[in-house]
Amino acid sequence: MSQQTTLAVVVPKFSEFVKHLPTVHDLAACNEEALHQLWSGLGYYARARNLNKGAKFIVEQLEGHFPKSYCEWLKIPGCGPYTASVIASICFNEKVACVDGNVVRVVSRLLALSEDVWSSSGKSAIQTHVDQMIPEKRPGDFNQAIMELGATVCRKSKPLCLLCPIKEECLAFAQNCVEICPPKKPRRDTVDVELFALLFWRKAIDAVAIANRTKGFLSNTVGFPLIPATEASELKKVLQSLQHLEFLELPSRFSHSITHHRISGKVLIVQELENPSITTESIPWEKLGLPKSFDWVPTSVIASKLSTALDNKVFKLFKNHILG
Ligand code: SF4
Repeated sequence: MSQQTTLAVVVPKFSEFVKHLPTVHDLAACNEEALHQLWSGLGYYARARNLNKGAKFIVEQLEGHFPKSYCEWLKIPGCGPYTASVIASICFNEKVACVDGNVVRVVSRLLALSEDVWSSSGKSAIQTHVDQMIPEKRPGDFNQAIMELGATVCRKSKPLCLLCPIKEECLAFAQNCVEICPPKKPRRDTVDVELFALLFWRKAIDAVAIANRTKGFLSNTVGFPLIPATEASELKKVLQSLQHLEFLELPSRFSHSITHHRISGKVLIVQELENPSITTESIPWEKLGLPKSFDWVPTSVIASKLSTALDNKVFKLFKNHILG
């Protein structure tokens, strides 16, 4: 959870997560909707899906027994070299180095490395250096110590060199080049994305429709259908041609960021008129790139069903403009 998310956000979410899913069996049996609910606010939903996949593998293929070595952990779906090395060294005392961003920074300063340490070849060079440093005894403690040193002392900016327990060995400190070591990560360009969120509303029963999004942004999560703004005019044409529906584009926008995507969007409220001769379900939504079927959820409980921060923002706009 704490990969790419701050501890202040993670700690309460983690407590809630383990309260609801205390064992690998609970995690394996957890349905997608409940999982996303527990993960809501943490972002990077692929991590939740991977946890669920890994738990299923352990329960179904390994009879619920956790692997004990780095190589065995690598066979678990969703478990990469970093996670495998953390678990193998800290839980099973295996001598295998963990390399995260903090470790890359500490080692590149310790050895005054000026090459690009962030590329995959740079990281594998760091891995080789740490593999040579890691001791036979207490490898898990070594890994945690070096990660913690990077997080608290050898910080990205304003490192506390005078308090550092390894300053005598540190080449960057000796050569007075700490500030330029390691070289900065190349920045990934932010991509602007324009979306429309579709909010189907059955006023008669005061319910809105959510669906499992099968493609595009936030795919494999449950929420309001999202379509790229470039496809919105086609959709509006179809909606206009349907006598039993009317739609309204809200004037306010929502904005949201996912990894390097900066999303800005509008909400399109689609309302079924009373006593329709055909129903929303009979429309071939999949031809418009939308999910085939929806679940109608009363607006009074929808908040507990929405799994992403973006969906919550969309519903808040609907609530403010329509429900008041
Ligand atoms: S002396 Fe400074 S640069 Fe070197 S490892 Fe310690 S905190 Fe990092």
